[in-house]
Amino acid sequence: MHQAADGALARLRLPGGMITAAQLQALAHAASEFGNDTLELTVRGNLQLRGVRDAPAVADAAQAAGLLPSPTHERVRNIVASPLSGRVGGLVDVRPWVTALDAAIQADPALAGLPGRFLFGLDDGRGDISGLGTDVGATVEGDRVALLLAGRDTGIRLGIDEVVPTLTRVARRFLEIRGKAWRVRELDDPTELVSDVAATVPAGHGWPPVTRPPVGWITQDDGRTALGAAVPLGVLQARQAEFVAAIEAPVVITPWRSLLVCDLAEGVADTALRVLAPLGLVFDENSPWLDVSACVGSPGCEKSLADVRAEATRVVDEATVTGHVHYVGCERACGSPPTGQVFVATAAGFRERR
Ligand code: SF4
Repeated sequence: MHQAADGALARLRLPGGMITAAQLQALAHAASEFGNDTLELTVRGNLQLRGVRDAPAVADAAQAAGLLPSPTHERVRNIVASPLSGRVGGLVDVRPWVTALDAAIQADPALAGLPGRFLFGLDDGRGDISGLGTDVGATVEGDRVALLLAGRDTGIRLGIDEVVPTLTRVARRFLEIRGKAWRVRELDDPTELVSDVAATVPAGHGWPPVTRPPVGWITQDDGRTALGAAVPLGVLQARQAEFVAAIEAPVVITPWRSLLVCDLAEGVADTALRVLAPLGLVFDENSPWLDVSACVGSPGCEKSLADVRAEATRVVDEATVTGHVHYVGCERACGSPPTGQVFVATAAGFRERR
C-alpha cells in the first residue's frame, strides 16, 4: 500500500504478468467494493487498485486469492517475462523459469532487502523483454542463454539450469555493492556484479525496445487462440475485468499495459471478442490507443500539474497521433517508454521533453 493523492494505492505483483481468472475476478470485486472501480495495469505487468477505502479488506482479498505468498518479499517479486511464451513462438517456454525464479527470490532472506525497483527479466528469445532494460535479465539464444545487465549483453552465456541461480546471485551481489544505487544502471561499473564469470562472446550490445503490445486474434502453436487486448491508458474498469474473468481462461498482463486472454477454443474466442470489444478493450492493431500512454496525473498524483489522461484522450479523439506519445504531469516522467515523444504538463500547457 502507498498513499496517493486520491487515497491509498494497492499494488499487486504478478510475476511474469500471470494471473488466473479467479484471481482477476477477486481483484475486480475488491476494486468495485473497496477502491475506485478500476484496476490499473503497470509497465511491469502488475495491477494496482486506487482510492482504496478499506486497505485490510483489499489485503484479505488478495491473500485469499493467493496473490500475497510472501509478506517479507512482496515488494521484490518483480519479474517480467515474454507474455506469449509457451503459447506462440519463442525458443523456450520461460513460464517455468518465472515460477522457479519467484520461488528462489522468496526463499532467500537476503533478497527481501532488494530495492523495490529492482527488476528481473526473462526473454524467451523473441526480444520483447530484452529491450526493457531490466536490472538483470536472461535472453534465450539458441541452446544458450545470454545474461544481461541493465539491458546490455554481458557476453556471458548460461546453460538453462544456470539461469535462476545466476539471476539470484547477481541480485545478492547487487545488494553487497549497491551503495545508494536503486538500479543496476546507477552503478559505476555494473560488470562488478559478474566479475566471477568469464564472458565468452563480445559484450555490450543492447536490444531494440518493443513499444507495442500483441493485440487481436493470435493463433497459438497448439491451435488454440489467445486474444490480445490493449487497455486504453492502462485503466481497466472493474466491469471489464469481470467480463474477462468470466471467460475462465488464463490471463497475462503485459509490460505494455495490455492483457492476453489465453488458451481459448475458437468458438469461445469469437464470443469473447464480440463481448469485450464493445466494452472498450482494443483488439485493432491500428488503433491510436496503442501509441498513446500517460502517467496517472491529476487527481491521482499530487505532483501533477494537469489531468494528463484527459489530454491523452483528447489527442486520441482528435486522431493526431504520429509515433508513440506519452503524457506526464511533471518532470519525473513516470512510465516513459524507451522511444517516442514525452509531453510534460506545465503551467502554460504541455511541452515536449527533450
Ligand atoms: S510523472 Fe509526475 S505527475 Fe505523473 S505520476 Fe509521476 S510524479 Fe506523478
